[in-house]
Amino acid sequence: MPLNIPGLIVPFQLLFYPRLALPAVVVKDIRQLDWAALKAAGYRGAVFDKDNCLTIPHNDTLVPQLQDAWSDCLHTFGPGNVLIVSNSAGTHLDPGGIQAESVSYHLRVPVLTHRSLKPAYTCITSIRTYFASLASPIRDGELIVVGDRIFTDIIMANRMALKSSKAPLSVAEAKTTTSNSRQEALIPTNEKEPDVASRGPLAIWTTGVWQKESMAMRWCEQKLVDRVRVWTNSDPSVYYGRRFVKREVVEEMPVAKRPWYWPPPMGNEKA
Ligand SMILES: [Mg+2]
Repeated sequence: MPLNIPGLIVPFQLLFYPRLALPAVVVKDIRQLDWAALKAAGYRGAVFDKDNCLTIPHNDTLVPQLQDAWSDCLHTFGPGNVLIVSNSAGTHLDPGGIQAESVSYHLRVPVLTHRSLKPAYTCITSIRTYFASLASPIRDGELIVVGDRIFTDIIMANRMALKSSKAPLSVAEAKTTTSNSRQEALIPTNEKEPDVASRGPLAIWTTGVWQKESMAMRWCEQKLVDRVRVWTNSDPSVYYGRRFVKREVVEEMPVAKRPWYWPPPMGNEKA
């Protein structure tokens, strides 16, 4: 696994802004997302992680169980408004962008080419540049960011929210502030929808895994989220879950076994 420098400084930032770790929506996988409800709430674009969110790690094709949900997503947002941001395809670990091309072909959407791994601010800048370049530009508050890892996908989405509004996210600030734009952007204190200009992207955490990978780190991430929910006395997924998560139960996901030669040979390594 490559060294993720932008990810290494996350714990220090969490000391001051623990809510960066809180997902707005928690689902097992994307089949539970209500695309129509998201569109109706003003979300026009989507950023997706790849590994263990849409594909099996080190594989470029969509997990077969997600075919219908993925088609519905593309139909709802439009393929040009959906972007794959991976810490494998499209990075320096993908020389020549060969894997990015393959993923783009199989998933039918563009793959972001970026030099810094998620959740780096330079990666965020690349995402904003892409969505600003569209014929109908998409703002941060009109994006959903979907991924299976707290320390990369969710932190990145919430970092975008941090820069999208002026209100506090820290525990101390939150305790002294009862109502402001940033607090409402991440954790609404009432049933009023924050307007698109003042909110950040919607951070969506997929907790299921299609192939076991970094399970100890995933356990730590879950414990961190639980702890921050208690510490800050807030859980945005209660509010957003009622609105954007389908009630029906999805079939249990079969977890693929790792090949015996895991991890793959050098030069084929991906995050
Ligand atoms: Mg992933």
